[in-house]
Order: sequence, then C-alpha cells, then structure tokens
Amino acid sequence: MNRKGLLPKLFIITLTYFVLGFVSILFANLALLCMALPFILLAKAKKKVWCQNYCPRASLLTVAGKKKNWRKNPALITSGKLRRIMLWYFGLNLLFITGSTVQVALGRMEAMPYIRLFIAIELFSLPQLLTVQTPLFLIHLSYRFYGMMASTTILALVLSRLYRPRIWCAACPIGTLSDALLKARRV
Ligand code: SF4
Repeated sequence: MNRKGLLPKLFIITLTYFVLGFVSILFANLALLCMALPFILLAKAKKKVWCQNYCPRASLLTVAGKKKNWRKNPALITSGKLRRIMLWYFGLNLLFITGSTVQVALGRMEAMPYIRLFIAIELFSLPQLLTVQTPLFLIHLSYRFYGMMASTTILALVLSRLYRPRIWCAACPIGTLSDALLKARRV
C-alpha cells in the first residue's frame, strides 16, 4: 500500500492508543514515540514527512471533521495566537509532567493516578484490564501523558467539527516546532 493510501487508515492508531489506556495505563507512554517520530523523520528527510504521510491525528481529523460548509478560520487561528498558546501549553505541560514525575519518584509528592484534562480538569482513573506491579511514578507519568493526548485530541476534534478537518494543524505544537526547525536549517 502506498503512503497516500495508508494515511486515511491511520486514525486507527489514535483510537487504539486511547483504548489501550483501558488495558494498561502504561501504554500511554507511547505518547513519547508519537512526539519523537515526527522529529526523527524530519531529521532524516529534511521535510515534514510525518505531517504529510503518517500522522494518525491528522487522519482522525480528516475522517471525523466537518465535510462541507467550512467556516472561515477564526482570528485566533489566522493571527497565530492559538499557535503560541498551544506552544506554551505544550512546553509547560512537559515541564509539569517531568517535574511532578520526579517529585513522585523521590517521594515528595503523591501520585495522581487519574486523568486530568488541560492540566487543570480532574477526571477519573481508568478501569484496568491488566494490573502490573509498577512504581507509582510510572503510573503518574502514564496518566499525565494520557491526559495530555486526550486534551489536545478533544480540542482538535472540536475545532475540526466547528471549522474544517485539519484546522488543528495550524496550532499543533509538533507542526510549529517542525516548521521552526526547518526554517532554522535554511537560515
Ligand atoms: S501539524 Fe500536528 S496534527 Fe497536523 S499533521 Fe503535523 S503532527 Fe499531525
């Protein structure tokens, strides 16, 4: 199957990621792979191979997004404001995730074994099909990644239904950082 034929089906990977959280929350750490792969491919090909051919989230948004009567992009998008907000959100989130996981590992903070959306909205723990003896800091880390992936996926899906399927790509931190790296290479 060629790569163009593959992209429309890759949304299965995103759905599988969220379902695997119910098997074991430890699978949520696969988010690290999702974050690293775009940059590994970028370094190899010197272009946004991930965004163009392999991004499961782009695939999901294409499948689930509004099909017709697209609205004009909101000023939040055209001004680049949402892009900056999301970049800050992404950076701070990674900082909080790393810091809190280290604190839990050192016994200075209690683990938070539940989903939190957009850093602040506390939800619930997921029922687990597999229970593995795992250090608490790993459970904490897994829930933080799961929450981060869930938050951005929900936001991207809402935007895709309100405006157009891949409007999220204009604010996606991975896309923004990829553009910045490509630009820096050309300077
Ligand atoms: S910009 Fe983000 S969501 Fe869009 S294709 Fe690239 S990595 Fe995927």
